[in-house]
Amino acid sequence: MAQPWDKWIVPLAARRVIQALEHAGFEAWVVGGWVRDALLGMPRHDIDVTTDATWQESALVLSEAGCAVCQTGTAHGTVTAVCEGEPIEVTTYRVDGAYSDHRHPDEVRFVRDVREDLARRDFTINAMAWHPERGLLDPFGGEKDLQACVIRAVGDPQRRFDEDALRIMRAVRFSLRLGFEIEPRTQGALRRQAASVADVASERVGKELDAIVRMGKAGRALLDQPEVMCAALPELAMARDFDQRSVYHIYDVYEHIAHVCNAVQAFTAGLAAPELQWAALLHDVAKPVTYSEDVEGHGHFFGHPQQGAQMAVAIMHRMAIPTEIIDAASALIRWHDDRIPATVRAIRRMLVNLSKACPGREIPLAYELLDLCRADAVSKCPSAASWASKLDDYTRLVRQESRHEPPLTTRQLAVNGADVMRVCGMAPGPGVGMQLEVLLNAVMEGELPNEREALLAWLSA
Ligand code: ATP
Ligand code: MG
Repeated sequence: MAQPWDKWIVPLAARRVIQALEHAGFEAWVVGGWVRDALLGMPRHDIDVTTDATWQESALVLSEAGCAVCQTGTAHGTVTAVCEGEPIEVTTYRVDGAYSDHRHPDEVRFVRDVREDLARRDFTINAMAWHPERGLLDPFGGEKDLQACVIRAVGDPQRRFDEDALRIMRAVRFSLRLGFEIEPRTQGALRRQAASVADVASERVGKELDAIVRMGKAGRALLDQPEVMCAALPELAMARDFDQRSVYHIYDVYEHIAHVCNAVQAFTAGLAAPELQWAALLHDVAKPVTYSEDVEGHGHFFGHPQQGAQMAVAIMHRMAIPTEIIDAASALIRWHDDRIPATVRAIRRMLVNLSKACPGREIPLAYELLDLCRADAVSKCPSAASWASKLDDYTRLVRQESRHEPPLTTRQLAVNGADVMRVCGMAPGPGVGMQLEVLLNAVMEGELPNEREALLAWLSA
């Protein structure tokens, strides 16, 4: 009978690696994510191979077979063989020793049986091995769980999450990515043990959270797995059930954030830039700490965009998010609540602010800011939603400004400091910069065109 893997195209490089190891008397399998994705009908490029050879034996055999071999993780038994230009990770069968801190095995132990190696893997769908001739090795029912669209821990979920709490985040990530349910026992353990995610190194949590955010699934994750998300991002825990005491808000702060994340996806047809997705997740993170109440009992959050931007920088640094995303997301958060008039002047101010935070990125960021404002507006109350359509006027103005490329800094003016000194007879010094600032203002206000002749004439007047 034809097997599904008859159709699989295993990259030649992986076949070569397996053949070389097996000719030398070892056993080797493709394992983990590649097998899962191939069974789902989406084979991919990065391939992990698992073998009973020690890393030194793998290194020797594979370099003799003509691969370049890098010692990428020998403490865990891993070398990377570059074969046909493709990197293939080759790891010795291993089990993890005891975990005393929910995050690092105290030791790894190399073993002789591939089944033992599969048993230390996190979920049944990730614990399958495949061989070009021997076919599928699936001791934990991963294929059945794939068909049933289920994420299930290998073995006792409580013990597995206790060993490594990052698996809690991984369960959430895989369920969102594949659209799978988490099997009830696994889900129960996940909820009970969610708090231990806080013990995991922040950059490991950051990597999982970033993947969830970039898939556009942060809103879903907040609504479906609040315990996990609040453990991963403790700053959000205060937002949960936080009553805004405002006629403009039908949701508490946490639910509002989740709706904004979802709305950003909807407004960008699922193509939101990572900084916009991070900004949506963190835009109101400072609301609980800036809350005040007026005499009528109405809630206010004065200064929450500024403070939120600062908190977001600290959070994203901790999570090892790339700096260019941090800078852009914090700028979006900083300006998300500004009610500016729909005038060229106000739009230029906005572009100047964005260009100061992220030089050269002001136009795309302006569109992202407007998408964030739209998402924010439709996630408040029905009457606030009308603001979202007013934002179309702003989008038109940004489009207009992006065509004109207005000067946003004195360096983009059609005259420079030397012109100022010559025409005004000024000596070098701060006065020259001030004069350029005056010119920049006049151009931005539309009083002068950014044309050399006009600016020189204005200077000499
Ligand atoms: P992705 O497409 O996200 O890379 P993947 O399955 O390849 O999915 P990796 O993080 O690259 O995931 O890990 C490779 C394999 O290693 C997994 O399929 C799983 O078998 C195992 N694994 C990874 N992390 C853990 C963990 N924390 N606990 C147990 N097994 C793990
Ligand atoms: Mg992988």
